[in-house]
Amino acid sequence: MLNKATLKPKIFITRKIPTQIINQLEETCDVSIWDDEYSPVPQDVLEEQIIDADGLLCLLTETINKELLEKATKLKVISNMAVGYNNIDIATASKKGIIITNTPDVLTETTADLTFALLMATARRIPEASAYLRDGKWSTWSPMLLTGQDIYQSTIGIIGLGRIGEALAKRAKGFNMNILYHNRNRKPEVEVALGIQYTSIEELLRNADFVCIMTPYTTETKNMIRKEHFRMMKNSAIIINTARGGIINEHDLYQALVDKEIWAAGLDVFEQEPLPLNHPLLTLPNVVTLPHIGSASITTRVKMAEVAATNLHQAINGETPKNMVNKKA
Ligand code: NAP
Repeated sequence: MLNKATLKPKIFITRKIPTQIINQLEETCDVSIWDDEYSPVPQDVLEEQIIDADGLLCLLTETINKELLEKATKLKVISNMAVGYNNIDIATASKKGIIITNTPDVLTETTADLTFALLMATARRIPEASAYLRDGKWSTWSPMLLTGQDIYQSTIGIIGLGRIGEALAKRAKGFNMNILYHNRNRKPEVEVALGIQYTSIEELLRNADFVCIMTPYTTETKNMIRKEHFRMMKNSAIIINTARGGIINEHDLYQALVDKEIWAAGLDVFEQEPLPLNHPLLTLPNVVTLPHIGSASITTRVKMAEVAATNLHQAINGETPKNMVNKKA
């Protein structure tokens, strides 16, 4: 723990972020940091720090629940270094007049890149093929060895056509894919601009070769894809989730893969993170798993930290941050 006591507003940062951004914040704030890069801040440290903090800059790994928020006596802002903010109890924070901010836009293209990379890796079995070679199993070229699914000219179904969903559709266009989408609100202008088609969730699941989840995690989207939905999908279909764990029911996904109701899954996010090593999904060769790296490019992570620091700074100074998510509340 780093702490320099002064009379400036007190902020707590729950993980090491780029030094230049910490230095900037230190010009106007008394900054404390949980500076262990690879382990989340223990709950008791977070509780202790939040009591008299004016601002909190946190990650999606921190659960900012009612119990924790009730301990805060002068907290003005929680700046989440992520676009998703399902880790924060927005209702309780809003009741206490605490501003919540996120980091949209700067991570859109990077996350769409990773989503398409995961789609390709899963369809063409890239991790499995790489392991095959390294394990010394490559004895000859063989007609049906490690054959996968075609991507070009196939049908992609995007559930949640927001910033990242749209960026993903643009990538799919480059592969001559037929693009279906389902969204809470229909987007006629985007349909015309990108030549994509709105469908019900059921129609999307029946027709898509690739189903990509791109909604936030909310009470509405929790377990949005479960047993009955996998049954609607093609046996050759691949599901990709880079949104949040828990939108897909993992138990039902495992069963659908074992029963060959669908062909494969590519997952960057899980109900429990880190994914326990004894998780049943890890026993299946047709599941490609990543440790929640959607926005993990060097440039984008620095930009996210900059945006999170700006949001925090603005709120501490009594301004309304551009990325405030609880304006209505
Ligand atoms: P966004 O612009 O807010 O897009 C979300 C879209 O989902 C919106 O179009 C929204 O519809 C739609 N939606 C919400 N609830 C829905 C429902 N019940 N049914 C159908 N559609 C629904 O957010 P974004 O920037 O694209 O980010 C999307 C999510 O990706 C984030 O919330 C985050 O959890 C996840 N993410 C993950 C990573 C990673 O590292 N893996 C990185 C970045 C983001 P409306 O138009 O009606 O609002």
